[in-house]
This record gives sequence, structure tokens and C-alpha cells, in this order.
Amino acid sequence: MNDALARLLKLAEADALLRKLEGRLSDLDREEGNLRARLAAEDEAFARRQEAHRRLRREATEKSAEVDDTDAKIRLYTRKLEHDIIPYKEMEYLREQVAFLRGRLDELTEEALRLMAEAEADEGRLAADREEHLARRKRLEEELSAVARRREETLAERERVRAQRESLHGDVPSHLRGAYDRLLGGGSPVVPVVGGSCGGCHLRLAETTVEKVKADREVVTCEHCSRFLYWPS
Ligand SMILES: [Zn+2]
Repeated sequence: MNDALARLLKLAEADALLRKLEGRLSDLDREEGNLRARLAAEDEAFARRQEAHRRLRREATEKSAEVDDTDAKIRLYTRKLEHDIIPYKEMEYLREQVAFLRGRLDELTEEALRLMAEAEADEGRLAADREEHLARRKRLEEELSAVARRREETLAERERVRAQRESLHGDVPSHLRGAYDRLLGGGSPVVPVVGGSCGGCHLRLAETTVEKVKADREVVTCEHCSRFLYWPS
């Protein structure tokens, strides 16, 4: 391959590698975004789980307080009935209340015990859920660290390839450099001849163009898209 074309090809390879590295960096950004979203969802789900447990505890405590209140009322009314001198109507009323509250106390006690047992059982389940939550969280954090490491490596490689690319760009004969730079926006500016067609625009090349590429005495460009052509070895 003639020297000018070889330099163009090397430069094109460095630019292709840079494009690949840019693509990898945006993949890593996307991956990091996904992992952060999963981490946030994980934390939210566990916060909801904890809140549900707190609610259950609160209900059990409130029910126990209701039991105590009811019990205190029964004692108060009973004391009044036994020791105070009160009108008959009020006595009747207090007796009814005591009977009603005794029935209610049994229901409330049963309910309070059920809620407390439920909260106790949920405490055990919550501990297991916390373990699982922390394990999932740890895995996600590890994946995030791995992404950060890969980004560091990719950034370092990009710096290295960029420097190399600048040097290769300087090595390309100056009269070809401008054309190369203009072509760079549309993928690789240096393409092989593939079955008599341009490897860039895929249009059929003139016989003379193909012959010139094969002869390899000068830098030849595609008559359709102006990309630099080489004969694949
Ligand atoms: Zn072409």
C-alpha cells in the first residue's frame, strides 16, 4: 500500500476506535442511569415495607390502649355503683354500661392480642426482608462500582487514542488532510473496494478507478462519494 494511503488508513482506524469508545461511554452512562434507578426503587420499596410494619405496630399499641381505657372505665363505674349514693336512673345506666363494656373488653383484648402476635411475626419477616434488601443493594452498588471502573478505563483509553490520533493526523500529507476531515462526519473516510463497488457508498466504481486502486501508485477516491479507496489485502 502506498505510504499516503497507509497513513490515511491508520488515521481512519484510530477514528473508528474513537467512535467505538464514545459509543461505549454512552452505553456506560445508560447502564449507570438504570442501576441508579433500580437502587432508588429498591430503597423506596424497603421504606414502604418498614412503614407497613410501623403501621401494624401502631395499630397493636392503639388497640392495647383501648383495652386499658375500657378496663379503667369498668373499674370506675363499678366503684361508683358499689360506693356512691346515686340516683336510680344513673345506676341503671352505669350497670348497662358495665355489661356492655365487659363484652367489648373481651373483643378488644382478643383483637389486641391478635394484632400484637401479628406485629411480632412481622418483625421476624421484616428482619429477613432487610437482609434481602441489603444484599440486593450491595449487588447494585457493586455493579455501579464496576461501571465506574469501566468508565475510568475507557476514558484513559480514549485519551491515549486521541493523542495517537493527533499524531497520525499530523502524519497525513497536508493536501489530503482537509478532504479527510470533511469526510469524517459520514463514517470512515477510507474504505475498501468490495466487488467493484465503493465500500462506503456501495455504488459501482468505474473500471479505471478500480484499476488505479489495484495499481496502488497514488491515492484514489470514489467518484461518487469522494472517500479514499484501498484494495483489501
Ligand atoms: Zn463511494
